[in-house]
Amino acid sequence: MAFAVTSACIRCKYMDCVEVCPVDCFYEGENMLVIHPDECIDCGVCEPECPAEAIVADNAEGAAEWLALNARLAPLWPNITEKGEPPSDADAWKGIPDKIDLLSERAAT
Ligand code: SF4
Ligand code: SF4
Repeated sequence: MAFAVTSACIRCKYMDCVEVCPVDCFYEGENMLVIHPDECIDCGVCEPECPAEAIVADNAEGAAEWLALNARLAPLWPNITEKGEPPSDADAWKGIPDKIDLLSERAAT
């Protein structure tokens, strides 16, 4: 069992989720975060904290796609444990559907 970050996070990257995760299982890409499914303890604390509603439980509709993406990218990206500065245009990207084509698979620097 695990939670996963969806494409709704892309270019929003508010990072409120990072602050509340008790096991520090978020990983940071250039314009999105993901959850390492093997480390997530399924507590659900992060889900309501996300302003972009970008975090879903693994039994949510369509979650399999996001779990697979999170599982693939988490080992490639650095761990993030503290909230940083969100992108200046994060609010403009909140709620925009179908952002997956905008995903950068580059790790955060
Ligand atoms: S709070 Fe939501 S939008 Fe922000 S980084 Fe976490 S998952 Fe992404
Ligand atoms: S469900 Fe809990 S353990 Fe999993 S990512 Fe969210 S806060 Fe972390």
